[in-house]
Amino acid sequence: MPSVFDDLVGQEHILEILQAAVVASQNGLQTQEMTHAWLFTGPPGSGRSSSAIAFAQALICSNNGCGTCSDCRAARSSGHPDVEIIRTESLSIKVEEIRELLTRVAWAPSLGGWRVVVMEDADRLTESAANALLKAIEEPGTRTVWLLCAPTLHDVLPTIRSRCRHLQLRTPSIAAVTKVLMDRDKILPDKANFVARVSQGHIGRARYLATDDTAQSNRHLIMQLPMQLGSLTAALQAAQTLVDIATETANTASEARDEIEIEKLQEAYGKGATGRGMAAGGSKAIKELEKDQKSRATRMVRDSLDGALLDLATFYRDVMVTQAGNRDSIINTDMVEAIASYSKTSSADAAIQKISAIMQARLSLAQNAAPLATCEALMCQLAKR
Ligand SMILES: [Zn+2]
Repeated sequence: MPSVFDDLVGQEHILEILQAAVVASQNGLQTQEMTHAWLFTGPPGSGRSSSAIAFAQALICSNNGCGTCSDCRAARSSGHPDVEIIRTESLSIKVEEIRELLTRVAWAPSLGGWRVVVMEDADRLTESAANALLKAIEEPGTRTVWLLCAPTLHDVLPTIRSRCRHLQLRTPSIAAVTKVLMDRDKILPDKANFVARVSQGHIGRARYLATDDTAQSNRHLIMQLPMQLGSLTAALQAAQTLVDIATETANTASEARDEIEIEKLQEAYGKGATGRGMAAGGSKAIKELEKDQKSRATRMVRDSLDGALLDLATFYRDVMVTQAGNRDSIINTDMVEAIASYSKTSSADAAIQKISAIMQARLSLAQNAAPLATCEALMCQLAKR
């Protein structure tokens, strides 16, 4: 029988815990197995939010999370009255947003089971927002289950994390990602193994790379950059290329989604129904949505740039392992020759410095530094041999 838990790749160690909780939850009791606050942590791509959403589905589905019934499907697409998925587009979740959320979820679940709130970026809670949330989590006897997600335990206030059952997700192995791409997405073995390897266990990126031609050609362009940094002009050009690719990738992904969201909102305000204009408040709501979409687009460019920088880091990592005579563990198996010839022209120290320069640039971007300027500074550092 299919289950929403089938989608959790390489997370066998938490499956048993979640399934026991689902069984216990049907008795409606707060038992050792079932508790009302959970914290999912794990590296990017390990599937924190997909695990939390699968758990939410299993809690509200009358079939333990079959994945196919109308409850399961509605929960997944944020259309279920008892499942709320909080996705943040901005860099922080403010106290007003939490207060508003708390009024929304104060009602008993409409279908008599559980009300589940999935918060995908609990690490973005401001301190006052976290404190407001804490009060709700502490409240005993409610039918609300909180599923918080964050990269690590340290990203969440100690007061919050001490009240949550903690589940640590792992980066799935290359073999596990390869297998799921072959079984579920029907990707040929060699290709599945290659994309799993270069995506380093990030299943979403692996799948995207395997199925999208533009993603493949963009990756190729990015991975050629280290060989093209012969002059200052070339370094600045490389930075521009990197930012252009990230922007284009992010825009392609967000344009279609933005349009659908606007249409839905216009419909909600009655546009087109009787040939009249939108009901009162419609244009204000649209303006707000557009503002949110804009900040999401900015964040998506940063995310996509971050992915590109991680790819670049694997190049220098491969240079290092080649210099150490360990060619078997190369990640970018399509670039063995280029990596070998680069390795001869630089020292091991240089590769380490370049990797740390890349990590520093990622950190700056995460703290809102200007993308182009950050990439320009980085490329100048990478240009040194
Ligand atoms: Zn179901």
